[in-house]
Amino acid sequence: MATQIAQERIFNFSAGPAVLPVPVLQRIQEEILCLPGAGASILEISHRSRQYIAIQEQAKARLQRLLGLGEDHEVLFLQGGARLQFSMVAMNLLGRAEPAAQYVLTGSWGKKALEEARRHGAVDVIYDCKETNYDRLPSPGQLAFNPDASYVHITSNETIQGVQYPGDLDTGAAPLVCDASSDFLYRPYDISRYGLMYACAQKNAGPAGVTVAIIRKDLLDRSSDELPGYLSYKNHAEADSMWNTPPTFAVYVLGLVTEWLEDTVGGLDKMYQQNQLKAKLLYDVLDEFPEVYRGHAQKQDRSLMNVTFRFSSEEAEKRFLSGASEHGMGNLKGHRSVGGIRASIYNAMPVEGVQALASYMSDFAKQSV
Ligand SMILES: *Cc1c(COP(=O)(O)O)cnc(C)c1O
Repeated sequence: MATQIAQERIFNFSAGPAVLPVPVLQRIQEEILCLPGAGASILEISHRSRQYIAIQEQAKARLQRLLGLGEDHEVLFLQGGARLQFSMVAMNLLGRAEPAAQYVLTGSWGKKALEEARRHGAVDVIYDCKETNYDRLPSPGQLAFNPDASYVHITSNETIQGVQYPGDLDTGAAPLVCDASSDFLYRPYDISRYGLMYACAQKNAGPAGVTVAIIRKDLLDRSSDELPGYLSYKNHAEADSMWNTPPTFAVYVLGLVTEWLEDTVGGLDKMYQQNQLKAKLLYDVLDEFPEVYRGHAQKQDRSLMNVTFRFSSEEAEKRFLSGASEHGMGNLKGHRSVGGIRASIYNAMPVEGVQALASYMSDFAKQSV
């Protein structure tokens, strides 16, 4: 990367589209004019070309290895973002005649998923913490799963509120459907617990344009032939994500991110260790200065990906943001529904970026009290 341009890069705490690993960006830059062996750019070649097929197969194989997927699950590369998944989940797995699906609402995205599902079938909300402005998860005993439910839907990480499940929920016989858009690949999973895990790539796994769905193969039988072709999981599975032109560039970049995760980071165990360490740096400062920073999420339910907090005054918030920008840190303003600050520290955010923010937060707090 040209040094001058590289030096202009800030520590980017954007919630999404978000930070990508620098080696991935460098590789794109190297290959953008001519993909090795293709004689043309990845942007210019057919999705049926030998070179592109190899890229998509590699990306899939790397996801299978990272997630420990066996024969039970299929990997799909889709478009339409996570929000189309809100509809596709219900259209494929619920249907008018099926038993109700159960929704667990822990923040803004879960609510939006529910709104879409309601158009297609019966849904029960089995948990909703709106009274406390979505600052917590249910305790295990609070959730009554119906073994006959079409599925149970959760949002593993609520990107806006910064509330995240620390592990894999056991929903018994009801298939677990998980919107993992903002924490996909942040830790190892017990994937056998999931009927369907879906994630738009642009938070934690790549650029906007591709959405990954990991679906248990027996659930593909639920896709009705009446569905519009693109909206059927079964069609995408049967065509190995080539039912129509896949988002080739986005899949290419996602493939590079999975390569980085495997070969540079060293797998999801290592990634998880780094993510725990990074989040602790910030939460330690929040806890040290409770008179300055008020965290949104309850301590035990804090997200390792999106750290959300407020100040006692708007003035302090403005001062914090402008100081952060002077120190080369950007995109820290929280979502309007929560206010305050949101520091998104996804997989690709380097430890140095989080250290810089933690030390700035500590200095800011000392000057404020
Ligand atoms: C960003 C986000 C979405 C929406 O994704 P789109 O790709 O914009 O449709 C859904 N769920 C979660 C948890 C998100 O973070």
